[in-house]
Amino acid sequence: MNVVVLLGAPGAGKGTQAPLLAARLEIPVVATGDLFRAAVREGTPLGLEARRFMDAGRLVPDEITVRLLLERLARPDAADGVILDGFPRTAIQAAALDAALTARGAGVGAAVLVDVPGEELVRRMSGRWICRANGHPYHEVSSPPRVAGVCDLDGSELYQRADDQPDTIRTRMDQQLGSLREVIDHYRAAGCLRSVDGLQAIDRVAADIDAQLTAAGIRGAAGSGRAAGA
Ligand code: ADP
Ligand code: AMP
Repeated sequence: MNVVVLLGAPGAGKGTQAPLLAARLEIPVVATGDLFRAAVREGTPLGLEARRFMDAGRLVPDEITVRLLLERLARPDAADGVILDGFPRTAIQAAALDAALTARGAGVGAAVLVDVPGEELVRRMSGRWICRANGHPYHEVSSPPRVAGVCDLDGSELYQRADDQPDTIRTRMDQQLGSLREVIDHYRAAGCLRSVDGLQAIDRVAADIDAQLTAAGIRGAAGSGRAAGA
C-alpha cells in the first residue's frame, strides 16, 4: 500500500500536484478540503458543522476530520494506497493516521513538503479559481484555463472559494501554519519527510516530487514506467 502525504501551507500547490501524482501512481487522491466542500454542498450535518470552521478560516476539529478521513480510507479504491492532500494538518491527525495504517500493516511511505513562502501563498490563493465538478485548480495569472471561467479538463464552471477572500486567507495562514510545523516535525521524526521547492513552475515541482518519491522507494513514480501495485 502506497501512502503519500502532500504537505504544504494553504495555497502551496498540493491540489495542483495531487492529481498529477495520482495519475502516475494510479492511486486516488483523498483531499479532506474537497470532502468537506462536498459535504457542505450536500448540506449534510457534517457539512453544516464543518462550514462554520471553514468560513472562519479555522481548522475543523480533529475528531470530525479524522472520522471523515478514516471512512474514506475504508473504501475499496483506497486499498492499494492514496495520495493525501490536506491531511494530516495537526499532530493529533498525524498520530491517528499512523495508528490506522499500522492496524493494516502499512505506514506513510513519504511525506513531501511543497515549500512556498507566505507572500506567494497570498498571491496564489487570491487568484485561485477551481472547478465545480472536480476541484481542479487554476490561477488567473500563472495557470489560466484555455477559456475563461471553464475547466479545461471537464468543462465545468470555475468559481472562487469563499475562503479565498483576503481576510480569510490571512486568518487561515495565522491559524494553520503553526500546526503545519507540528506535522512537519512529526514526519521528520519518523524519518520520511522530504521537501521540494514549490516556487518553481508546476511541471518542475512535479518532477522534483517524482524524484523524491523514487528516492524513497515509492513504486510507480516517474521513470519506473510501472503502476503502483503492478
Ligand atoms: P493547495 O491545494 O496547496 O491549497 P492549489 O494547488 O489549489 O494549492 O494552488 C493554489 C493556487 O496556486 C492555484 O491558483 C494554482 O493554480 C496555483 N499554483 C499551484 N502551483 C503553482 C506553481 N508551481 N506556480 C504558480 N502557481 C501555482
Ligand atoms: P483546503 O481545501 O485543503 O484548503 O481546506 C479547506 C478548509 O477545510 C480548511 O481551511 C479547513 O477549514 C478545512 N480542512 C481541510 N482539511 C482539514 C484537516 N485535515 N483538518 C482540519 N480542517 C481541515
